Amino acid sequence: MSQINEEKILETLATIKDGDQNIVEKGMVQGLQVQDGHVIFAIVVPPSVGASAEPIRKEAEEKVHALDGVLSATVVLTAENEGGQAAASGQKAPQPKEGPLMPGVKTIIAVASGKGGVGKSTTTVNLALAMRDQGLKVGLLDADIYGPSMPRMLGITGEPSSSDGQHLDPMEGHGIKCMSMGFLVEEETPVIWRGPMAQTALVQMMRDVNWGDLDVLMIDMPPGTGDVQLTMAQQVPLTGAVIVSTPQDIALLDARKGLNMFRQVDVPVLGIVENMSYFKCPHCGERTDVFSHGGAKQEADLLQMDFLGEIPLDITIRETSDSGHPIVDHTPDGEHAKAYKAIAEAVWNKACEKLEAKAAKMPKIVQ
Ligand code: ADP
Repeated sequence: MSQINEEKILETLATIKDGDQNIVEKGMVQGLQVQDGHVIFAIVVPPSVGASAEPIRKEAEEKVHALDGVLSATVVLTAENEGGQAAASGQKAPQPKEGPLMPGVKTIIAVASGKGGVGKSTTTVNLALAMRDQGLKVGLLDADIYGPSMPRMLGITGEPSSSDGQHLDPMEGHGIKCMSMGFLVEEETPVIWRGPMAQTALVQMMRDVNWGDLDVLMIDMPPGTGDVQLTMAQQVPLTGAVIVSTPQDIALLDARKGLNMFRQVDVPVLGIVENMSYFKCPHCGERTDVFSHGGAKQEADLLQMDFLGEIPLDITIRETSDSGHPIVDHTPDGEHAKAYKAIAEAVWNKACEKLEAKAAKMPKIVQ
């Protein structure tokens, strides 16, 4: 297969017209990145044009994808505001195509947090592994486009390839199918995915990936509760969401924003997990409540939301997930694995309840 480069891509894109000029001379092609056959760029249009430029995006994607040496082409449509910057408003993001995004996927569960660093990714990966141990077929979509950590946490290296030449095959680590922007973009690469671009990337990681049959797809959401997260929550047919929080009050206030965000878009919140809940001294076994322990439980009661369980602050949790072998897989019979497994079971049962409730609302077929 021949090497693809920016020049060849731009040459191809210059054949696409917008009015009487082509999209390259009009400066509409931005943020072009080519890496080992994976091509990513944005088509920037004025906000007034918005999603009506979708045919141009589609044509650009198809033409670049058809080039020799291109494994994947991810083209996002983004609106530019007067200041010349891509607008972060979710409204300009192209809508997903008609039909189910992932027909073989039974349930989709988002794991979210009000802010970064509370252990959302660590919780997601361990819950995914615990569900695997329950005998479920599990996938994990790393939508934390600003700081994808799943390749590292699942110990996966390399890049996904395509067996059918059209869709990417997900990577696999510890029996979990995984897709992450981290596979397509080097860790050091400046993150160009912002606002609507991030949302489009999410839809593409669902639509253009061979997920196959899964009982559950866990989505590691970007931290926070801004427009990006809100639109993501809207674009994905979520069965439910799990909120991860530390016990500190400030984090809890953020967790409340997460809850409101999902309620706003009618996504059931399955419950809250309190991470770094307490610290147990590895030497003397004494338990110290580093933050005010039990805050998440109180908050959950207050908001009439289920409290799913607590995970202590323990260096082995950090070391194992940071080294690609998370604690549930590393020490499956230990107390932490047991705690994650209990939470995973509760999450799965609640997700099934929501699915049944949804099915019950659908019109029944009577013979
Ligand atoms: P987020 O996804 O919320 O940004 P991460 O899951 O990446 O957070 O966690 C941030 C850091 O905290 C990581 O180094 C992780 O290993 C560590 N960490 C997360 N949960 C725990 C825990 N319960 N005990 C110890 N370290 C943890």
